[in-house]
Amino acid sequence: MSSLYVVRGALRRQGPPQSCHRIFSRSNFFSRPARGGPTSLLPSTPARTRFAPSPTGYVHIGSLRTALFNYLLARATGGQFLVRVEDTDQKRLVPDAEEKLFEDLKWAGLSWDEGPDIGGPYGPYKQSERLQSYKEHANQLLKDGRAYRCFCTPEELDTMKKLALDESRDPVYNKTCSHISAEDAARRAANGQEHCIRFKCDSVAPLVQDLVYGTYKSPVPLDDFIIIKRDGFPTYHFANVVDDHLMKITHVIRGAEWLVSTPRHVALYNAFGWESPQFAHVGLLVDQKKQKLSKRFGSFNLSSWKEQGILPIALLNYVLLLGWSPSRDSKEKSEIMDMNDMIQKASYTLQFHLRFTKGDVTVNSKNEFLQKAHMRKSLSESSNTESVLASILPSLLNSIRKCEENRVSQDDSTPHKDLGVRIGQLVRCAHSTESPSGTSSTASSPVSQIYLNALFDLDGKSFTSPMDFLKRNVYHLWEIPEQQYRVRLQEQQALLNNIVVRESSGEEVQQYSQKVSELAATLLESLQGISEENWTEQNIKSTIGPFIKSIGYVSDEKPFQAWGWKFLRWVVSASAAGPALILSMVFLGKGETLARVSQACQVAQSIEA
Ligand code: GLU
Repeated sequence: MSSLYVVRGALRRQGPPQSCHRIFSRSNFFSRPARGGPTSLLPSTPARTRFAPSPTGYVHIGSLRTALFNYLLARATGGQFLVRVEDTDQKRLVPDAEEKLFEDLKWAGLSWDEGPDIGGPYGPYKQSERLQSYKEHANQLLKDGRAYRCFCTPEELDTMKKLALDESRDPVYNKTCSHISAEDAARRAANGQEHCIRFKCDSVAPLVQDLVYGTYKSPVPLDDFIIIKRDGFPTYHFANVVDDHLMKITHVIRGAEWLVSTPRHVALYNAFGWESPQFAHVGLLVDQKKQKLSKRFGSFNLSSWKEQGILPIALLNYVLLLGWSPSRDSKEKSEIMDMNDMIQKASYTLQFHLRFTKGDVTVNSKNEFLQKAHMRKSLSESSNTESVLASILPSLLNSIRKCEENRVSQDDSTPHKDLGVRIGQLVRCAHSTESPSGTSSTASSPVSQIYLNALFDLDGKSFTSPMDFLKRNVYHLWEIPEQQYRVRLQEQQALLNNIVVRESSGEEVQQYSQKVSELAATLLESLQGISEENWTEQNIKSTIGPFIKSIGYVSDEKPFQAWGWKFLRWVVSASAAGPALILSMVFLGKGETLARVSQACQVAQSIEA
C-alpha cells in the first residue's frame, strides 16, 4: 500500500463537535489515526484520486473543497485526478447539472486526467454507462452467496419499518428474502418478478481505518443493504466501491457525512477480496450557528461566488483553508497561495500532509482578505491586466448593465438604488463607440473592454466585488449629475465664505479670499493650457499642484487649513472617494475632465448667487 503522511496537529478537535455529533453519536472512535500514530507515513507512490459528484445539484463550496483536496493529493504525488459522474439516482437528476459541473470546475482552475468528457483507460466515467459492470459484479456476489435477491415490495418494506419503529427496534431489513433458495430466487427473477439485490452482511461490521478520524467502528450491525435497486441501477454504495476498485483509486477524500457508510463499503471490498483505498473524511462546512451549509446559505453555490466576482484562485485558496492547514514544516507560512504554492505546500518534502480538521468547519470571511490579496498579486505579476479581468468580466458587466437599467428606468429624483448615489449617463469615453482607442464594444456590453482594462489598470487592486468596485469608481464610468455637485458642496457650506488662496513671494505670505467658482475658473484655465498629448500625470501635477496646495480656508483654530485636494476631489468626482485624483484625471482624459471643471464652476456660481 502506498504511503501518506498524516500529521494531526493543533487543529485537531477533541471528539466530534456539535452537528457531526448526530451522525457519529452512536459511533466509536479510537483515539489514534489509522496507521502508525500521529506522523504515520503514507504516499510515496503516485496517488489516484477522484471527485465523484452526483448531478443532482450544482457545485458548491463544500464540493469544490473536496475536489480540490483530491486534486492536490494527486498533483502533489505525481498521480492522477479523475472526475466520475455518479448519476445512479435517476429520479433526482438536475438537467444541466453535469454540464455546469465541468464548466464550474474549469472556471475554478481544476483539470483532470480522466473523466466523462475526456475519457481515459478505465472509462466510461459516468455510472449510468457502466450498468453492465455493476450487474456482473452483483452476479458474482450472488454466485458466491454474498448477496441475494429481495422480492419484498416497497409497501411491505414500509410496513416492516413501521413495525420495527413501533417496537423500538432499528428499522433494518428483516432478511425475509435471504431464506429463499438461490434457485427459487433465480427462477422468480427469470419470470420477471421485480426485485432488488441485497448484500448479505456479516453480523459484525468491519472497522474503517480513516486518515482523519482514526479507527471508526459502526455502533450497530450492518443491515443487508441494497446493492442493485429495482430499477436495475446500482446504489451509490455499490457503484462507488466497484468503480473505485476498477479505476484503481488509491485515496478517497470526501465529506465526513460518508464516514458512517464506509463500513458498508469496506464490507463490499472484503467480500470481493479487494484491497480498499485509503479514506480521509473531511469535516463538513457549517455556518456560524453550526448548521450544515445548505443552498439557503447565500454563498453556498459556486454561481453566487462567481456573481460576486471572486477570482477563482482566491476561492480555491479560501476553500483550501477551510479545515486544512499547510504543513508546519513548510518554510513559507503565508496563507496566500496560488495553485503551485498549494501543490507545493500540500507536498512539502514530497509527502502530502493531510492536516485536516477533525469535525465540522465553520466558514469564515477570510475570502475578502484572500480576494484582495490575490487581486493585488495577480495584477502585479501579470503584465496583462486583461487576463485577470477576464475571469471577473462577466460579473462586472452584469453589474454595470444592472445599474444602467436602473438608471434608465428610474425617476430622476430618486437616489440610485444600487450605487447609493445618483449617476448621469455613461461617460462618453467609456461608451462602446467612443472608447479611448476608438474600439467599439459589442452590442451587449455597455462599456468597451478597453475602457474597463484601463480602469482595472487604474484601480483593479482595490477590487473586492463588482458592486464595491463600481461604487468606488462610479464617476469613472458615469457622468456626475449636477445635483451631486450641489449637494456635496452645500455640505461644506460653513467654510465656503472663508476660502483663501495663499501666495508667497520670498518671506512674505499673502492670503486672498476666493470663491469656489473662482477657484474652478482658475483651474479650468490652467488645465486648458495642457495639450491632449501632454495630458499626463506629471504634467498635470506640475501645472496645477502648486495652485491646489495654495487653496485653504480660515478657521477659528487655524489661519490656514489646507482644502485644495478636497476641492479637486469635489471637482473631479463630486467628492466621491476613489483612486488618486490626478490619475483619475489622466484616466478620464482632457475632454471629460474639463467638462467636469466647467460644470463644477457653474454649480458653484449658482450656489454663490
Ligand atoms: N456521489 C457522492 C456525492 O456526490 C460521492 C461521495 C464519494 O466521494 O464517495 O457526494
